[in-house]
Amino acid sequence: MHPLYQHMATSVFERMSLAAAQHGAVNLGQGFPDFGWPVEILDAAARALKDGSNQYAPSRGLPALREAIAGHYAQHQGLKLGVDQVCVTSGATEALAAAILATVEPGDEVILFTPAYDAYAPLIRRAGGIVREVPLQPPGWRIERAALQAALSPRTKAIVLNNPHNPTGRLFDREELSLVAEAAVSRGLTVISDEVWEHVLLDGQDFTPISAFAGMAERTLKCGSAGKIFSLTGWKIGWLISSPELATLAARAHQFLTFASAPNLQAAVAYGLAEGDGWLRPMRESFSRARDRMTAGLEASGYAVLPSASTYFLCVDLAASGIAIDAEAFADQAVERAGVAVVPLSPFAEHDPPRHMIRLCFAKRDETIDVGVEAMAKAR
Ligand code: PMP
Ligand code: GLN
Repeated sequence: MHPLYQHMATSVFERMSLAAAQHGAVNLGQGFPDFGWPVEILDAAARALKDGSNQYAPSRGLPALREAIAGHYAQHQGLKLGVDQVCVTSGATEALAAAILATVEPGDEVILFTPAYDAYAPLIRRAGGIVREVPLQPPGWRIERAALQAALSPRTKAIVLNNPHNPTGRLFDREELSLVAEAAVSRGLTVISDEVWEHVLLDGQDFTPISAFAGMAERTLKCGSAGKIFSLTGWKIGWLISSPELATLAARAHQFLTFASAPNLQAAVAYGLAEGDGWLRPMRESFSRARDRMTAGLEASGYAVLPSASTYFLCVDLAASGIAIDAEAFADQAVERAGVAVVPLSPFAEHDPPRHMIRLCFAKRDETIDVGVEAMAKAR
């Protein structure tokens, strides 16, 4: 048995979802919408299941999907991609694994901004890498030059960037992205850029991929996910975007992780991307409204809610809400006694994790939000 797995906890998302099911609680923990997907894409998947191929897809993905992904990023982010720069994966989770396996050698240091999505550190460590945490400080959660510089060393190989950022809901600004780009270009680092939330932008904001910065296209491995774009998290169709050279290396890792993903779902995602972006605006507007509804409800019962500009998560500062127990204890108590599952931020950093912060998912129908907010009122 590899020692890494002997003391590893089960992912906080799985733990909280199991606890929600066990206690019949409303699940505002694991991030998944309970509305908002375009129904046409479900019909496209059903058609592809019945009339299309049910045998192995090409390892790098269906040509139609790779073309649709390249077209989508040309339209939305001005990226000029050939299909040889796109590799379809089983969710962004696999894209991350392939990117890390293709990049990190034993002894390499990899920078993570914490709190960080929980998949990065274990993957880096299993590849033999050493995690260097750069803590982002609440309530601003900004990338600061001094903190980044302090974490860089001659052994730094890569930076994992997650923008927009889960769990904080931050959309990093140009100044912060420039700091990352400058460090990467001046030191010859690879940037693994987890951009799965690139379309979940609130309040009419714009997204700039890090690969658009000077010198970054050839050193960035971008990870994307149809699960987030179409609010269909269970589909697990993701992708890696990179230079042709890096994409080939990552595709070699991918071929021995899953080899390929379900052809029918790939066909449906290709259909969805090629259909245009009619779903985008309504999705953003409904998530912005949902955020406002949840924020107002939580504030009415005395919770200190931090601003959220992207993703469908918001954070609550328990200490600032006058709650003395830590986030883990609060989350256990809330799901067991008050009937609401939330996610504590403590598992998202190893050094000095935020111990008084919880995350809630607001991508829910009004009824779900109202039940959740009522339960939160009882949880304090
Ligand atoms: N990265 C981040 C930051 C995420 O939030 C998620 C899912 N919530 C993933 C990766 C995984 O995406 P997928 O479900 O496509 O594997
Ligand atoms: N990414 C989702 C979240 O942040 C959960 C993904 C998972 O359960 N592994 O809640």
